[in-house]
Amino acid sequence: MIVLGSTGSIGVNTLNIARKFNLNVEVLVAGRNIEVLNAQIKEFNPKKVVIANKEDIHNVDHSNVSFGEESILEAIQNSDSKTVVNALVGFLGLKPTLKAIECGKKIALANKESLVVAGKFIDQSKLSPIDSEHFGLWYLLQDKKINSMLVTASGGSFRDYPLDQLANVSIKEALNHPNWSMGNKITIDSATMTNKMFELMEAAWLFDIRKLDAIIETKSLIHALINFEDGSTTAHIANASMQLPIAYAILGKCDEQILEPVDLLQVSSLEFKKIETSRYPIWEAKDEIISNLDLGVVLNAANEVAVSKFLNSEIGFLDVSKMTLNALNKFNNVKPTTIENIFEIDKEVRAYCES
Ligand code: NDP
Repeated sequence: MIVLGSTGSIGVNTLNIARKFNLNVEVLVAGRNIEVLNAQIKEFNPKKVVIANKEDIHNVDHSNVSFGEESILEAIQNSDSKTVVNALVGFLGLKPTLKAIECGKKIALANKESLVVAGKFIDQSKLSPIDSEHFGLWYLLQDKKINSMLVTASGGSFRDYPLDQLANVSIKEALNHPNWSMGNKITIDSATMTNKMFELMEAAWLFDIRKLDAIIETKSLIHALINFEDGSTTAHIANASMQLPIAYAILGKCDEQILEPVDLLQVSSLEFKKIETSRYPIWEAKDEIISNLDLGVVLNAANEVAVSKFLNSEIGFLDVSKMTLNALNKFNNVKPTTIENIFEIDKEVRAYCES
């Protein structure tokens, strides 16, 4: 397989699965973490390596290294692998998703931004999502009439933080997630609840359903629930680890133990909370976004600019949601009809937010 984003949180977990199941890794794609990449090259012996920047090439212990976005697309095109694991972060992941589909490859998709921005131009039959909530929903599906689907949220770094102090939180506090160890961008998206908005859109595309919602479950043990028409509700319960969704996305099925089962006696109790707009202002836009998935490209572009500004100490934490809501308001009538439109709108929204 090809692993895009091999040095990140999902990439490293993917290689744990590759090690466990003795899977062949043909291409590794990483950004700037050359030390981790070199250790991966030594262990998995890929034919091809792609990194983000030219100036790092001489530090990479491999004879076939290239750099940049075009090289990622070429590596996908020229590979024999049938599976591409896309664990790149942000809009950068879209072109590789499209290229992998064009080349007829199966995609294990962690890069949820691909679906958020361009779900309508992506053939979902080629995708297996690497997201615990969507894996949970898939796991729960039965040949029965569904009423609605529910995903859970951890509540992120500030779920118990005094509301009146949210404006002044530090970057370090924002990156301190209570339940999951993830890349910086998704950790901030989790603190603002934008990640959950992305996941509702992802679910809408994957399961072709609009009766969707999210609630907070503070221990991240229940990942998804389905309410069936008959009044029954089923829940997917598993310990908080991405290895299970990754194993299924790559292998299709799995009968070996990946995780320890949840010990309910040790868990003892579970707590559920409503997602309040006072703590998560972005949630104000939830209904509008679910009913108009075209807004995904706006939501994502504005959020990427805002998160990057927050991580560069240019804006405060609450400004992230403010900037995103502002952009959604300004661009609320976008109607992309081609994939080219997605790239145009993305550019326009970024320029607006940057200014
Ligand atoms: P990370 O930030 O940990 O990893 C991102 C990866 O992309 C790293 O390998 C990074 O390289 C690489 N990368 C960044 N920029 C470039 C570039 N220009 N060229 C090549 N490679 C690049 O993110 P996560 O693993 O947390 O998340 C990845 C995706 O998975 C996101 O879309 C996220 O929303 C999704 N996801 C993550 C989950 C999680 O538990 N982490 C759960 C569900 C979904 P380097 O580090 O070397 O710079």
